[in-house]
Amino acid sequence: MTKEEVFDSYKENILPTYTKLPLVFVKGKGSRLWDIHSKVYLDLFPGWGVGNLGHCHPKVMQAVRDQVSKLIFIPNNYYHIPQAKLAKELVRTTYPSKVFFCNSGAEANEAAIKFARKFGQGRYEIISFENSFHGRTLATLAATGQTKYQQGFAPLPEGFKTVKFNDTEAVSKAITDKTIAIMLELVQGEGGINIASKEFVLGLKKICEEKKLLLIVDEVQTGLGRTGKLFCYQHYGITPDIMTLAKSLGGGLPIGAMIVKKEISDTLGPGMHASTFGGGPVISRAALAVLKVIHKEKMLNNAQKMGEYLIGRLKELKVKYPVIKEVRGLGLMIGVELSLPGKKIIEQCIENGLLINCTHDTVLRIMPALNITKKEIDKAIPILDQTLRGL
Ligand SMILES: *Cc1c(COP(=O)(O)O)cnc(C)c1O
Repeated sequence: MTKEEVFDSYKENILPTYTKLPLVFVKGKGSRLWDIHSKVYLDLFPGWGVGNLGHCHPKVMQAVRDQVSKLIFIPNNYYHIPQAKLAKELVRTTYPSKVFFCNSGAEANEAAIKFARKFGQGRYEIISFENSFHGRTLATLAATGQTKYQQGFAPLPEGFKTVKFNDTEAVSKAITDKTIAIMLELVQGEGGINIASKEFVLGLKKICEEKKLLLIVDEVQTGLGRTGKLFCYQHYGITPDIMTLAKSLGGGLPIGAMIVKKEISDTLGPGMHASTFGGGPVISRAALAVLKVIHKEKMLNNAQKMGEYLIGRLKELKVKYPVIKEVRGLGLMIGVELSLPGKKIIEQCIENGLLINCTHDTVLRIMPALNITKKEIDKAIPILDQTLRGL
């Protein structure tokens, strides 16, 4: 297919639910992507948060190839080895817990919502935060604190309340005798890279203990090394009651997971929740490879170091260009807040072979692969510099 034929097919045959950039990619490796004309791009936003290992990590490819040649799928009414190993590894690297596997972030959060309601035995309200993002199913949309995503889809499921982020007072006020859980991202991704303060999170933990509420931490975007620790909650010295994962867990293949504390794990029993594809053999092998690679290739250490370096370089740009209002981030989850919409900058960067994202209209979002090199950062910064100079 030519580029035009690809565009035509999308236009004719695919629902136009995405805002798209006119790029057709055919190959990826690490932080590089090749388009249909063999133009090479430096990708500092690989896979919309999916590419923590970069594109096509060889160890993930190898695990998938090996598994595909043995057994592609076996449903959840039987046992298989890859899921057993993956669950064991997730529990080992988190806290005493049990795992439920599904296929996406929304599905993991949906599972968390259902879990909380079942656990609540009549208490059902969930408090979430302004500018949060938890997914596009009806319930996760109701939990999402951004009305622009909800418009036109009423009535949404009941039982959700949204309050101000980083404000424990607002949370306390919102709690009723029907409240069962508080749900949050510790660093809001789609909402513009907003970092929860330590006092706030410790405050929430205390409220949850006092009021017997569940703390649900959505690590769909922050998980798997993105913030410089394997999971973002580890920055705060707390453990969630429920954590959800997806995006980068499968190294590019679709997987979601809900991880619940062991002491509440008997809330759900046989037949109460399910997902046909959840934790199938191929995806489980891929996810196991992801966890192994993060550890073996010391990616957490690199994410911390390169995160600091990249934030430092971006702060140099802030000194030069007043259009940059703030640079903020944790590990390699970085936002550059502008005083104007970032769309033009994104387009100009694409022209010059650099892929980054803009969220919340005015926040450039930069989330490179965890194995990004200093050399690659040093290549990206001048492109951004040149773009800002040209504004
Ligand atoms: C992307 C995202 C989701 C939704 O994940 P999907 O796999 O697209 O359903 C949920 N929560 C957060 C924090 C996300 O970034």
